[in-house]
Amino acid sequence: MSSSDQLILTFEAARHLDEEHARILGPRGRELLSLLDALGRVLAEPIHADRNIPPFPRATRDGYAVKSADVRTIPAHLQVAGEVKAGSAISDIPPLAGGHAIAMMTGAPVPEGADAVLMIEHTSRDGDRIEITKSVSEGENIVLAGAEGHKGDLLLQAGTKLDYAAIGVAAAVGRSRVLVYEKPKVAVLSTGDEVVDVDIPPAPHQIRNSNSYSLAAQIHAAGGEAVILPIAPDEPARLRELLAEAFDCDLVLIAGGVSMGKYDLVEQELAALKAEFFFTGAKIQPGKPVVFGRVVCGADIPVRQNSVNQKYFFGLPGNPVSTMVTFEIFAKTCLQALAGLALEPLRFVHAKLKTRIQTKTGLKRFLPAQLSGEFDSAEVELTHWQGSGDIASVARSNCYLVIPPDREQIEAGEWVPVLLR
Ligand code: AMP
Ligand code: MG
Repeated sequence: MSSSDQLILTFEAARHLDEEHARILGPRGRELLSLLDALGRVLAEPIHADRNIPPFPRATRDGYAVKSADVRTIPAHLQVAGEVKAGSAISDIPPLAGGHAIAMMTGAPVPEGADAVLMIEHTSRDGDRIEITKSVSEGENIVLAGAEGHKGDLLLQAGTKLDYAAIGVAAAVGRSRVLVYEKPKVAVLSTGDEVVDVDIPPAPHQIRNSNSYSLAAQIHAAGGEAVILPIAPDEPARLRELLAEAFDCDLVLIAGGVSMGKYDLVEQELAALKAEFFFTGAKIQPGKPVVFGRVVCGADIPVRQNSVNQKYFFGLPGNPVSTMVTFEIFAKTCLQALAGLALEPLRFVHAKLKTRIQTKTGLKRFLPAQLSGEFDSAEVELTHWQGSGDIASVARSNCYLVIPPDREQIEAGEWVPVLLR
């Protein structure tokens, strides 16, 4: 299609295309990092158990290792034959003989011959003898060797985000360094004659560039490395020059210049680079003029060494809330794919609407909102805002309330979908 054609899709259709293309994107290089430096990165190798987990039958309570048959009738009396603590060497632990008990600490290896651990709370001790007031069944309070994983088992797949639990698993199997995917480089190109950088005192008619910074922050949080380019004026030649530079990155995000105005030149200049457009608008608010497409590298766009020959771009509307929302619901998916993450659907939670909403039909809305209340009584209400230029309203909110396109009003108390942020 040419840039003048309109390709405005429903949110769902646009999202479907986004996911379809994200599925064919992947990471490029890998790097070896020390474990904590890898926090938040994407694992580029599978991690296996290097031994059984736990490596020995482990007591999960403080108490006594016993033969469960010895305490079937209560009260029972047993002779204490020793003590095992966490850290006791297995070779030093004597096997348990009938009629005896061995004092156990949580985390300690269970002696051979014992098949249960009695909780200390159900015993009373007098010298070397204990009285048992509650019987215990076979296997109780013991995690058998290998119960959580056998040597060689796959514990973390490549493509897993290294969160604190994954970091814990890697540490548990002795991985002080892990291979992760390189972060994709994401170009951020803000456009607009009125836009000036943050450290320049703006003239009364000028607007400070907030989009490049909020986008860089979103890119960082999603696992990418932002490359902020100079602000592009609403002038074709310079815009084209900066676009060509932007396509040196793995993904290109352009903010502003995608609406229908005379000086909205982004689509036109992308078309001049022979871009293929998948959509040039979505029936959403904020962010309706959002654009998604790709260019083939070659004559107009240099092909970097080891680089793929197709580069994807998003044209995000310049109103700051539109820029933020369209990144979250569209651009982030492709970025995560380039970062090596397995494709994940957008996940919505549900909460009870606190205050009635009156709106217009036709667009799916993602509006800044406040989620509050305890988990089982989650409530949500719209944040007061002045429209999609109102960045501070997003800063005051903690989620986006999603309003389907066919609802004119939603009553207080109804369950509504919420996109967390
Ligand atoms: P546009 O999408 O280019 O029509 O811009 C829509 C609105 O967003 C205008 O009011 C712009 O001034 C504002 N805007 C565009 N780019 C930026 C930016 N980088 N930072 C802050 N506001 C912007
Ligand atoms: Mg503009």
